[in-house]
Amino acid sequence: MLDALAHRIANQLLKRLPGPQITVGTGTPIVSFTFDDVPDTALSAGARILEAHEARGTFYIAAGLLGREEADRRLIGAEGCRELARRGHEIGCHTFAHGNLRDLSRRELTRDLDRNREALAEIVPGPAPRNFAYPYNSAALRHRPALSQRFRSARGGVTGINRGPTDRTYLRSFPLQQPETSVGQLHAVIDELVRAPGWLIFFGHDLAETPTPYGCTPQSFEALVRHARDSGCTILTIDQALDRFAAAA
Ligand SMILES: [Zn+2]
Repeated sequence: MLDALAHRIANQLLKRLPGPQITVGTGTPIVSFTFDDVPDTALSAGARILEAHEARGTFYIAAGLLGREEADRRLIGAEGCRELARRGHEIGCHTFAHGNLRDLSRRELTRDLDRNREALAEIVPGPAPRNFAYPYNSAALRHRPALSQRFRSARGGVTGINRGPTDRTYLRSFPLQQPETSVGQLHAVIDELVRAPGWLIFFGHDLAETPTPYGCTPQSFEALVRHARDSGCTILTIDQALDRFAAAA
């Protein structure tokens, strides 16, 4: 209860004290599909569905979780990361140990982010991850400088469409999670985006016939991607979207 309250206050503060800004100026509705952690079904179903629509996604990896077997899901391993990168998806950073940033000192966070970068460098050759997602959507104001220095963006948990001046250390997003009816309602958010273009970011976890509370079914996900496509949205990874806004600025 207290924790939920602290979470809400931290989010309110972040909304009121905007950090380093970018301008999301676009006449075209832009949608990004992202996955956190990453469960194996986000690769087997999520990446496959995106590719079927000629789109790519951003997958935020916490290397400390790679290959982990949990009660209701299995997370991808090193080979899964390579597979995503090979198929043109973006690999983002989700910390190494998936800790709550509010519990970490600056030094602990730096160490953790270095560790994730080193672990991913061994798995996926090429540049270090350029974009970040907060574990548990839990942001901390005091870590904003470290994150903004290291990453182009950080995705947070306040829901909304990104438009105009946007705090790049606290991108707004919508969860792709149970109940299925709430995923179905996200079609209306795409319609809203089409009416007033901006940048709409979705984040999901597993895509399973019997999803965890943080996941949804592949059918719901497919319908949403199709709706974005059919409505004339351009689907981009987080990094591609930022390139586009930078070029337009
Ligand atoms: Zn996570």
